[in-house]
Amino acid sequence: MECVFCRILQGLEEGFILYRGKGVAVILDKYPVSKGHLLVLSEEHYVGVHDTPPNVLARVWLAASSLARVYRVALKAPGVNVVTNSGGAAGQAIYHFHVHVIPRWGPVKGFWSGRRDLSEGEAVEVLNMLKPYTAIVEEYLERVKLL
Ligand SMILES: [Zn+2]
Repeated sequence: MECVFCRILQGLEEGFILYRGKGVAVILDKYPVSKGHLLVLSEEHYVGVHDTPPNVLARVWLAASSLARVYRVALKAPGVNVVTNSGGAAGQAIYHFHVHVIPRWGPVKGFWSGRRDLSEGEAVEVLNMLKPYTAIVEEYLERVKLL
């Protein structure tokens, strides 16, 4: 198993998992550009937005949107980015479909500027900050009836 995200989901590699269920997983980015930088993944392995089936896309984007709402409304982040990179030319580094949710707590100097290693202390702090809101992710995912 070469894929680092699949390895994290199988417990073969360390990762900080905020939520898992209904075909999606939310983990902390190991190289955050801001405090609280999340990745929303499909539980099944797909390469990117171009090969992921629509029902899975819907779930991943809905979960990402729910977390954007948590940051903007509950945690008062002044901004948030929700973005996916498809292909190396677009900056994709891990070839397992994922959507970045990046809260912005202040002005942005460059989209990916400030990337750094995630410390365990910060990871625990972010998980504790978000844990009270994981029910919102669940609630959004339960509304997927269209597919
Ligand atoms: Zn994978």
